[in-house]
Amino acid sequence: MAFESLTDKFQNIFSTLKKKGKLSEQDVKLALREVKLALLEADVNFKVVKKFVKDIRERAIGHEVMESLTPGQQVIKIVNEELVKLMGEEKSDLTFSKESPTVYMMVGLQGAGKTTTTAKLAGNLKKSGKKPLLVACDVYRPAAIKQLQVVGGQIDVPVFTMGDKNKPVDIAKAAIESAGKNGNNVVIIDTAGRLHIDEDMMGELIEIKENINPQEILLVVDAMTGQDAVNVAENFNDKIGIDGVILTKLDGDTRGGSALSVRAVTNKPIKFACIGEKLTDIEVFHPERMASRILGMGDVLTLIEKASEAIDAKKAAEMERKFRKAEFTFDDFLEQMQQVKKLGSIGDIMSMIPGMNKQMKDVEIDDKELSKVESMIYSMTLEERANPALINPSRKRRIANGSGNHIQDVNRFIKQFEQSKKMMKQFSGMMKGKGKKGLFN
Ligand code: GDP
Repeated sequence: MAFESLTDKFQNIFSTLKKKGKLSEQDVKLALREVKLALLEADVNFKVVKKFVKDIRERAIGHEVMESLTPGQQVIKIVNEELVKLMGEEKSDLTFSKESPTVYMMVGLQGAGKTTTTAKLAGNLKKSGKKPLLVACDVYRPAAIKQLQVVGGQIDVPVFTMGDKNKPVDIAKAAIESAGKNGNNVVIIDTAGRLHIDEDMMGELIEIKENINPQEILLVVDAMTGQDAVNVAENFNDKIGIDGVILTKLDGDTRGGSALSVRAVTNKPIKFACIGEKLTDIEVFHPERMASRILGMGDVLTLIEKASEAIDAKKAAEMERKFRKAEFTFDDFLEQMQQVKKLGSIGDIMSMIPGMNKQMKDVEIDDKELSKVESMIYSMTLEERANPALINPSRKRRIANGSGNHIQDVNRFIKQFEQSKKMMKQFSGMMKGKGKKGLFN
């Protein structure tokens, strides 16, 4: 997950501050110098960092902090508040037009993740009860139309195309007309990107914008490109005017700086964050939750939301009943594991649990480890899966051989199984009472 190194640095700075009973002006200055370096290393725009640190300094070197009984905590509180402010305070919802269909125009450079994000957005709008239509307006890249058709097929949303012989603006107009006839109340236009910003591309986008007057122009930028992402956003905003930004690839090894700078530089909100290649890997961007994640304070709210989307409430209730009655079996374990996997990688899940980030460094939780466990369960007989107590040493040897693991692995897993029961119980408790939900309801 992005921000790992920034989170570590913040936690070190804060733990030094928290140890001090009283803070001198010098202590605060030193800490803020570290904050500044950490942000610059995370690729946050220089001007943004300067202002951010100045604002914190002004607030931190005041009576409120210096005379507080817990000055370290006060400084952390201020940093948190300023981070939230930097990212835009409140989440910024997608808006809908009064007249149907609502038209969104997706723009961005090639490879940023525009086509994938178009489908992610459509999938979520569909979940919340809308009837979206995707429009293939990239007539230059040979595979672009096919790609949109493939992702559209995966989420079962229709794709409007007129091949690559028409002008994008004409395709967009025809698509909106077709949406009206077919009852599609949302139209999402996937425009063509280029490797770099060029006049032709901007000209074409402006032409589409002027002719169809979209409700929102959403710019898709790749968070992995750091400062470049921010420059791209500034450029698009100056030339065509955007309504919001969608940051992609925040799951990768990004330093995360763009998430912190884009809003301040463009004054346009980040509306969504994409955190993986799967079509469900999109989240509403909540500044306060992101700040909390960056400071290593977790993001339990997002975790619960993800869980309620991915996990079948009925099954969760049944599991909980089993936990209570101690009937939990390997079959149940397997099923739970598969449900948890739908939430994303284990690393991502852990980063949302408060205090986990630091501990995670020492405990390598590997997605491969889960596959190993799966293979062991599949090597058990049906009776063994249903009745864990049956598994004696000779059965363990057979399971190890059958799944291509060592006997020690099997022993370790069976030991962990008991502990997992406890963990899963807490997890299932969190799920209680949550029905299926989409991003927009
Ligand atoms: P486009 O050229 O802007 O339309 O970009 P695509 O939608 O074709 O995406 C380019 C590549 O980025 C593809 O391999 C996608 O799977 C990948 N991608 C898109 N969004 C994300 C994301 O949030 N995380 C990761 N890891 N990969 C992504």
